[in-house]
Amino acid sequence: WKHAPAHFRTLLETSRFHGEQVFLAYEDEHITFEEHFRRAATLANRLVEEYGVTKGDRVAIAMRNYPEWVVSFSAALAAGAVAVPLNAWWTEAELAYGVSDSGAKVLIADGERAARLASTGVPMIVTRGEAPEGARSFADVLGEVGADVRLPDVELSPEDPATIFYTSGTTGRPKGALGSHRNLGQSPMTVAYGLIHSLTMAGKDAGAVAGVRRVTLLTVPLFHVTGCFSGMTTSMFTGGGLVLMYKWDPEQALRLIERERVTTMIGVPTNAWQLMSHPDFGKYDLSSLTTLGYGGAPAPPKLLERITSNLPDRAPSNGYGMTETTALAIGNGGADYRARPDSIGRPSAVVDVRVVDPMGTELPPGEVGELCVRGPNVIMGYWNQPEATAQTFVGGWLHTGDLAKIDDEGFVYIVDRAKDMVIRGGENVYCAEVESALFEHPAVDDAAVIGVPHDELGEEVGAVLRLAPGQAVTTEELRSFLADRIAKFKIPVHVWFREGELPRNPGGKILKTHLRREVLGS
Ligand code: ATP
Ligand code: MG
Repeated sequence: WKHAPAHFRTLLETSRFHGEQVFLAYEDEHITFEEHFRRAATLANRLVEEYGVTKGDRVAIAMRNYPEWVVSFSAALAAGAVAVPLNAWWTEAELAYGVSDSGAKVLIADGERAARLASTGVPMIVTRGEAPEGARSFADVLGEVGADVRLPDVELSPEDPATIFYTSGTTGRPKGALGSHRNLGQSPMTVAYGLIHSLTMAGKDAGAVAGVRRVTLLTVPLFHVTGCFSGMTTSMFTGGGLVLMYKWDPEQALRLIERERVTTMIGVPTNAWQLMSHPDFGKYDLSSLTTLGYGGAPAPPKLLERITSNLPDRAPSNGYGMTETTALAIGNGGADYRARPDSIGRPSAVVDVRVVDPMGTELPPGEVGELCVRGPNVIMGYWNQPEATAQTFVGGWLHTGDLAKIDDEGFVYIVDRAKDMVIRGGENVYCAEVESALFEHPAVDDAAVIGVPHDELGEEVGAVLRLAPGQAVTTEELRSFLADRIAKFKIPVHVWFREGELPRNPGGKILKTHLRREVLGS
């Protein structure tokens, strides 16, 4: 075997064995594994020959979830380059930051992004739309795709860098997370292990994972790690189909599950919630769906209840991960999840976890501190940011910035992001806990808890709520409902009712800075 297993080229070459099975489905387009391999290998050769891409050069990808995203990603890595997925929601200025920060040598973009990237002056390959002056079309660069095309010859080791994914930017400017081939290579194993565990714990025949072809509906962008690794590379590894959407739309998701006989939905908690809330939910045949995996943002226990009643006999699972952990690191599924719906579960097979105090000392079970993660999925560091790297990666442990506790049996509970916590007169109030309690109220459809500045206490607790259609509740009713569930000092003093959905980024995270500005003007 020419390449190490923990290596993207191995993953890509092995995927060819799935031959004529459909790998990528987008609207009416269906691309087989064989076709994908040939296109990716052809593009890899063009990158080397026509764009002078050599080992370690950065190739940035800026597009929606089109099949060409996957082809470009595969081609960049096969050419020995570092793939840099850029956030398709970014503005012109943000895209320019991604391009200059990564020092991309070539850009591969869709028409919409190409227009916003033209001013960077970096050579560009454009699909699905007009190529600006000086750029070439994807089809033109690809040219003829031969039957016996081979990957270009590049010597790569598992420790070589493979990807720069930008973090979501929830707590500051997005940071480039530099991941190696080994980081990436372990991700399908981690996800498959989690899936098998979740199915087994749900009383299903996990052996069927090997026998039944998985078809994954991806409801989140490929430019974040969940989409790329929990979705795409896992499908590539298992020979499963990957159904892509231009953007999240619950009705289209229902239609696609029926039409493509989807077995697994992968996304964020809001996707599952909105799918089941859709007025036409009952009209579609969803019998093929066996697993629903979500993560990336807190999943309220109410979501599990709703899945249990609306989609009984399925295996839902909640996965915790970060850009820095190459997606999934800790997961909860099946009976474990039903017994502890507020836990993110136990670490994946390859991961060590611990909770530490601000001095870095490990805390005993049950105590709240910062969650740290160690394992082959933890990235190499931040691109171009030695200080942030030194602060976050200490003695082999990744400091997540999330506050958590671990119980006697090893189940992990996220209590809040350290930067989200409200400190009211010296008492810590964990937003996630208050949000969960709010979610228990039947009228509450969505909730975000924020700190509201207060002269004496420093901060007070505030909540922004969206009510379910046709529901009404007063602030006083809500406060007395919460009084039975959480301590008095945690009960929101200020409550804002908001029309329309709470603002979220494509990773499903509520944009609290936007909300604060909206309700507090600061
Ligand atoms: P930035 O690091 O730029 O501020 P970010 O942390 O939101 O942005 P990501 O790497 O996309 O960027 O998100 C990781 C974070 O998402 C985790 O640190 C955690 O706070 C949250 N998260 C992920 N999965 C879960 C989950 N299952 N439950 C609760 N929170 C989760
Ligand atoms: Mg982060």
